[in-house]
Amino acid sequence: MKIIGLLGGMSWESTVPYYQVINDIVRRRLGGLHSAKIVLYSVDFFEIAELQRAGNWDGAGQAMIAAARALERAGAECLVICTNTMHKLVPVIEPAIGIPVLHIVDAAAAAVKAQKIQTVGLLGTQFTMAEGFYRDRLRARHGLTVVIPDDDARAQIHRIIFDELCVGIVRDESRAAYRRIMAQLVHRGAQGIVLGCTEQAMLVTSEDTPVPLFDTTRLHALYAAEWALAEQHK
Ligand code: GLU
Repeated sequence: MKIIGLLGGMSWESTVPYYQVINDIVRRRLGGLHSAKIVLYSVDFFEIAELQRAGNWDGAGQAMIAAARALERAGAECLVICTNTMHKLVPVIEPAIGIPVLHIVDAAAAAVKAQKIQTVGLLGTQFTMAEGFYRDRLRARHGLTVVIPDDDARAQIHRIIFDELCVGIVRDESRAAYRRIMAQLVHRGAQGIVLGCTEQAMLVTSEDTPVPLFDTTRLHALYAAEWALAEQHK
């Protein structure tokens, strides 16, 4: 079994399920007292969110590279970045380390394609929804069509993520807003919804939308566990 490097803390609320899901898979697959080999580097999200807000992506990239290198030095054999947004920086992180990045978009897309879904709605931070780094990978590498919420809905989602979910607050009004926004995406052709922010599964479940929901936190953790176990057979 390979050692998984988790770069987490963005927010810590959403890093907890990674640890649980990965260990759960390893125990189910190997049985008995088996558990996953994991190294965790958990950042202070305040510092990272300030860099994001200031648009200081160079600074954020340096912080991610330092953390990724620390994981590698600690023995990690792959890098799992436990946030969708920071995958924006994969093009600078990946060349700076000697271990592979297990990309969250690839984990999500594999699950979408397994259900023969062509068009997905994407919910996440403004960075994830509005910029190209996430949608372009879904489109170019995986051939999926992506619809995103309108300007007002994107602003509302971004606020809910940072002001509520990342600090552990789950509100019924926010769930109602998500339900409305997901219904609009379905109306516009989405056959599934990608929860492209690792905290969103705290707020909504498959009961909140008639189409399949793809929780990137869970899917990314499953992907990492399968990777660590598959390497064992090589
Ligand atoms: N965890 C969130 C995500 O998956 C947002 C936190 C961040 O900005 O990194 O995008």
